[in-house]
Amino acid sequence: MHTSPFTTKDYVRRMERAVEQATAAGLSGVLVAPGPDLSYFTGYRPTAITERITLLVLDAGRDPVTLVPALERPDAEAAPGASAVSLLGWADGTDPYAMLAPLLDPVGHYAISDSAWALHLLGLQRAVPGARFRAMTEALPMLRAVKEPEEVDRLAAAGAAADAAFEQIVSVRFAGRTEHEIGAELAALLRRYGHSGVDFTIVGSGPNGASPHHEMSERIVRDGDMVILDFGGVWADYRSDTTRTVHVGPATDEERQVFDVVRRAQQAAFEAVRPGIACQEIDRVARRVIDGAGYGRYFIHRTGHGIGLTTHEPPYLVEGEPRPLVPGMCFSIEPGVYLPGRFGVRIEDIVTVTEDGGRRLNRTSHDLRFVS
Ligand code: ZN
Ligand code: ZN
Ligand code: ZN
Repeated sequence: MHTSPFTTKDYVRRMERAVEQATAAGLSGVLVAPGPDLSYFTGYRPTAITERITLLVLDAGRDPVTLVPALERPDAEAAPGASAVSLLGWADGTDPYAMLAPLLDPVGHYAISDSAWALHLLGLQRAVPGARFRAMTEALPMLRAVKEPEEVDRLAAAGAAADAAFEQIVSVRFAGRTEHEIGAELAALLRRYGHSGVDFTIVGSGPNGASPHHEMSERIVRDGDMVILDFGGVWADYRSDTTRTVHVGPATDEERQVFDVVRRAQQAAFEAVRPGIACQEIDRVARRVIDGAGYGRYFIHRTGHGIGLTTHEPPYLVEGEPRPLVPGMCFSIEPGVYLPGRFGVRIEDIVTVTEDGGRRLNRTSHDLRFVS
């Protein structure tokens, strides 16, 4: 699938929007550290993120400036959005925090990237003792949440590649092989279908499926097991994350019933997606279906999370999140039921909000699939 690279114009627009949102939130500016935020605003991804500080200062009062270690300046100059920011190099043996101080309002309030190292934030606090700092995802949670069309296209391509991997993995043998073996095969398929890296492959068979954070083990998958497959990776910098639950051989009535409850919860939550609805309402819709079937206390996590340059980011579909869905937002809908010591079922699709509803970026069937 085709991607168009982001342009300087894209980066400038994103930085302007950050300043607007910061101002509207009563902040003086935004401090952007290496990681997904810096990549989003400038396309710059330092090869090694180290004790030497790199920081982009976005402030309503001045043009964007990135403080970089002098030895990394050539790399920063080669970044896609480099022409939209001025660079300020600092040399080993000098105090980078003292160089940042004149760029900040001495009594200002700043949002700083979640990924900023504590070392650097503490240095800033020493250098600008009157300023206050808040975590980016608390102060400006929706900064990267509304995706541009090109971002949605990349997430869709990542989703399609993950779907292709799933369609292959269901034809391999499960019974008699370890979770690790199946996970390794799934990872190879993710790469084969275009992922440049694999973030995780969860294979939760039988009782292991009842633990949502179980990754993989040496457990040998057996006939009669329910198996949760939750996997994702990176495709043109954007992430995939999808879950399907399969069964080895014929399933019991109870297994089919639990599966059907989760499927109905996922479908109901998807159908509730539209601009303006509160994030927590999507969670409630899914929970209502599972509660109604008597499995409420076995649905032990939120319904979904935003996805983009990272696998987990705002918006979170969780009780207590009243912010509304906006066209362009992309997130998972992944209800589950986990019966301790027995088995688990989860179904997860990435969904994007459209002008009048939602569109799934994962398209494989929600029917219970039987493997051998
Ligand atoms: Zn079974
Ligand atoms: Zn997942
Ligand atoms: Zn997920």
